[in-house]
Amino acid sequence: MSGYVEVSRAGDVAVVTLDNPPVNALSLHLREPLHQALEALRDDETASAIVITCAGRTFVSGADITEFGTPKQLQRPSLPDLCALLETISKPTVAAIHGTALGGGLELALACHYRVADKAAKVGLPEVKLGLLPGSGGTVRLPRLVGPEKAVAMIVSGAPIGAAQALKAGVVDDVAEGDLVAAAVAFAQAKVRTGGPHVPVRDRNDKIEAARADLASFDAAVKEATRKSRGLEAPLACAEAVRNAITLDFDAALKKERELFLKLVAGDQSRAQRHLFFAEREAAKVPGIGKDVAPRQVARVGVIGAGTMGGGIAMSFVNGGLPVTVLEMSEEALDRGFATIEKNYAISVARGSLSEEVKQERMARFSRTTDYADLADCDLIVEAVFEEMDVKKQVFGKLDKVAKPGAILASNTSYLDVDEIASSTGRPQDVLGLHFFSPANVMRLLEIVRGKKTAPDVLVTALGVARKIGKVPVVVGVCHGFVGNRMLGARSAESEDLLLEGATPQQVDKVFTDFGWPMGPFQMGDLAGLDIGWRNRKSLGKTAVIADALCEAGRFGQKTGKGFYLYEEGSRTPVPDAEVERLIEEKARERGTNRRNVSDEEITERTLYPMINEGARVLEEKIAARPSDIDIVWTNGYGFPIGKGGPMFWAELEGLRKIVERLEYWHGKTGKDVFKPAPLLKRLAEAGSGFTSKSAS
Ligand code: NAD
Repeated sequence: MSGYVEVSRAGDVAVVTLDNPPVNALSLHLREPLHQALEALRDDETASAIVITCAGRTFVSGADITEFGTPKQLQRPSLPDLCALLETISKPTVAAIHGTALGGGLELALACHYRVADKAAKVGLPEVKLGLLPGSGGTVRLPRLVGPEKAVAMIVSGAPIGAAQALKAGVVDDVAEGDLVAAAVAFAQAKVRTGGPHVPVRDRNDKIEAARADLASFDAAVKEATRKSRGLEAPLACAEAVRNAITLDFDAALKKERELFLKLVAGDQSRAQRHLFFAEREAAKVPGIGKDVAPRQVARVGVIGAGTMGGGIAMSFVNGGLPVTVLEMSEEALDRGFATIEKNYAISVARGSLSEEVKQERMARFSRTTDYADLADCDLIVEAVFEEMDVKKQVFGKLDKVAKPGAILASNTSYLDVDEIASSTGRPQDVLGLHFFSPANVMRLLEIVRGKKTAPDVLVTALGVARKIGKVPVVVGVCHGFVGNRMLGARSAESEDLLLEGATPQQVDKVFTDFGWPMGPFQMGDLAGLDIGWRNRKSLGKTAVIADALCEAGRFGQKTGKGFYLYEEGSRTPVPDAEVERLIEEKARERGTNRRNVSDEEITERTLYPMINEGARVLEEKIAARPSDIDIVWTNGYGFPIGKGGPMFWAELEGLRKIVERLEYWHGKTGKDVFKPAPLLKRLAEAGSGFTSKSAS
């Protein structure tokens, strides 16, 4: 047949094998021959049953997302056509699932009468992560198998489940221990022997009827499932589609599902989320470094410093399966660090996300020391000591003496010059920055800072290790603050000035949360601790009028119950504070600033536009290789709303011309450098193009 679809026989059972490497995506060139094969088999009396299976490492892992938004996706036979065809077949149809059946892959399987899964298989409908809903019957068929409440939880979270759970929930009918295809064929033959009718999933209504009798309970499940959807349309649309499966008949619900899907796929949010999906994959590629560069082996990791970051970094490696030696200045510091690590794991155990047994396994992977000689067998050593160049240089000087040849030496510095740190060793080619984000065991972003002399295989190794421990790596160049903190700096001073000119912390923060950020800059400062920035500024001889004054008054944020806001004992809810208002007024008076009404629009323009401007400078200086890398940094490290695709993607939606115009306006008014349009931004705006040069502004 086509090469993408092969039909063979196992006795009187037809076995249809899909073969579209690497993940058997449902591209048009696969759908066409599959439709033909199924039609032929439906009418072929010599075939008593049909098993659909896949070649390679997995069942169908989804639709072909490169077809999204293109005519090919809708070209027939579409996936809904295939599913409809399957349901006209009266002989038993069985999907044999190995690897992952995700998205369109699971939808195809749901249109079969039965599903047999390999014991290591996973199934799920992750479309929501691309800003979509399962648009080929997933929202209408899955509730018929597992019940609408379970279905809405699965579809809104997008999280896949394993074979055992899928069997329990009713997504699959059997789990195979040995040869999957043989098991699926045997399953099909057993069904043939028992005789029909074989009821297609579309006609299984008992769970739907039960839910119809208790819609309130379903609506409560929706509320729980969509609680964290924060301004995203897709989770709500997913829930609406599953609700339709209860309140409408199958065909009407299916039609509605398609409408909702088409609306989402054409919308900006899904475009943004799909952009991020590809951006994450793209970020793993470093221009100029080919596939031929082999990584170094990393079997043991050292971490220097067991403070806020060191502890979290050590946990990240241990969680990824690597043994870690933690070095501190004293036994007391080690005790403190390990007490925090232990406490963090204990919280996970209490929450039920980790078993006591796994906690013990992880704790056993740590070693502790105060002696640098104990780092001699480490393949990668990450330094997370105080943010002072002299201290860092001393540490790297010592490492140079004890680390084995070829060991990778990394700094977690937030701002400092990685090349200068590297120069304190005799092996700058082995040095780079690994900038984790706080809390390091949770945050996925990892800025990999490439020094002038960092060797290609060191970068390749760092990228591999990052993925192994579940991080999202982005390679960046050396400059003050790299990509993320440098762009953050461009907005920080402005947030303070807005207060002095008349805005309130709550107004600024609301503009941020309305935009989709989890919190605004002042809530963020209170959460992180205002004293951190204060100390940092003092060491650099810098000031921030209001934050400094708050710190001088002992208001460090949540940890002291007061910062830009008040916090009730044990609460994290920020309450506006008249005292802060008075302090802002006083500081404004001292500076001779007349406070006025500041509009929300002004807040957006003066905080977000300078970030984009700085992003353009970062690109021009080649600190980031691509605009999409910046988007990955901001969505994974700083809470930029994923439905807006990151600052550079959003800038294109906003319009580069408008941004430049408004930057020029604010530059004229304030004379501040942050508003001076970057040459690249100006050029692109004048040319009417975007950062990705795909869309005009
Ligand atoms: P911290 O003060 O919580 O921890 C620093 C630890 O290093 C302390 O436990 C200290 O005892 C130890 N230490 C200091 N000098 C040492 C030495 N010579 N040998 C061994 N141990 C030593 O600081 P932190 O917040 O964890 O920051 C550490 C680094 O991570 C800094 O470079 C910081 O800029 C960077 N960073 C911090 C954050 C953050 O949000 N806190 C985020 C990213 C990066």
